[in-house]
Amino acid sequence: MTTSAELIELSERRSAHNYHPLPIVIHEARGAWVTDVEGKRYLDFLSGYSSLNFGHGNPKILEAAQRQLQQLTLTSRAFYHDQFAAFCSGLGDLTGKDMILPMNTGAEAVETAIKVARKWGYEVKGVERDQANIIVMEDNFHGRTTTIVSFSTDPDAHDGFGPYTPGFSVVKYGSIEAVREAVDSNTVAVLVEPIQGEAGVLVPPDGYLTQLRELCTAENILMIADEIQSGLGRTGKTFACDHEGVVPDIYVLGKALGGGVVPVSAIAADSDVLGVIKPGQHGSTFGGNPLACAVANAVIEILNTGEYQDRAARLGEVLHARLAELVGDGVVTVRGRGLWAGVDIDPSLATGREVSKALMSRGVLAKDTHGSTIRLAPPITISEEDLLWAVDQLAETIASFRR
Ligand SMILES: *Cc1c(COP(=O)(O)O)cnc(C)c1O
Repeated sequence: MTTSAELIELSERRSAHNYHPLPIVIHEARGAWVTDVEGKRYLDFLSGYSSLNFGHGNPKILEAAQRQLQQLTLTSRAFYHDQFAAFCSGLGDLTGKDMILPMNTGAEAVETAIKVARKWGYEVKGVERDQANIIVMEDNFHGRTTTIVSFSTDPDAHDGFGPYTPGFSVVKYGSIEAVREAVDSNTVAVLVEPIQGEAGVLVPPDGYLTQLRELCTAENILMIADEIQSGLGRTGKTFACDHEGVVPDIYVLGKALGGGVVPVSAIAADSDVLGVIKPGQHGSTFGGNPLACAVANAVIEILNTGEYQDRAARLGEVLHARLAELVGDGVVTVRGRGLWAGVDIDPSLATGREVSKALMSRGVLAKDTHGSTIRLAPPITISEEDLLWAVDQLAETIASFRR
């Protein structure tokens, strides 16, 4: 049998070093638990950055995927297929929007939202050709394409990849005044994560999303919510915007939409916005393929029950109550909502990576984001017992660094 060490060595030798994985080689997974090639079990507290909200191998999603695999997997959008109508109407109903434009990865969906907003700006708002501007936030994460990294404020993501796409203004996250100051007659959209995941699960001040919605409406600007990581049950509601009762003009969705099986992304908007796209102006060979739609249809069915949203809310309270007890004991602050938390460890104790490695040796998989922040995002299917056990492991890990 090939050992973890051998597989890691070969992976490092033959793959680009664009990631810095923890030293574990996963072989199989079910629910919230994964097993490595040596047979050791770990609790998954990352969930593929919220791609596995409904757990590994969710029976409903697997069944839909397996059924579709036998039936029809790919047509391209040159033809209709029998899963497409249900996908668009189902996701349209879930978001309350008229229309869906399906893509594959999150970054492609963000690109789609940018293109739609620009075209809407020229054709509907009447912005002068090539002058459209989109307001984005500091510390944003929207993906890795050349256009998206053009407006990233993370040097690793941004530097060395120019020349950069113009047409974006970066403002401070959480400040409505900063957005107001950046608006001018060429502003077509504000692109925002309702909670910034990659930045460390940063929750904006109460009322921020509401004020953003009001400002966008008053100034005839599209509000684009990137709910790729925050959406689909993670925070205890279907969308993080729901916590303020805010409805953006464009929802950007991905990650958990693919049920942890295949990449599925989409934007959802009303026809006065998404209607600007005509045949040939945007698309993707794999976007909206039968397998992707069948899987997403199972995800939408699961979300329509509301069970997972309620479970994330209830378990989120358990998680945050327990994490709050750690503040002052090696933990500086805890942020988050629902089953999602950013935990800032006292940087004098250990780096985020050191904490992640120590947690891994105790059987919990989590990943650091920036510096000494650990992001916790278990599958929503996790049991309360497992959840509390994992936080105990975190507490023990931090205690071990204090000794
Ligand atoms: C992951 C993520 C993306 C990019 O999705 P990919 O599928 O990796 O391209 C965009 N926005 C947010 C908020 C994300 O979390």
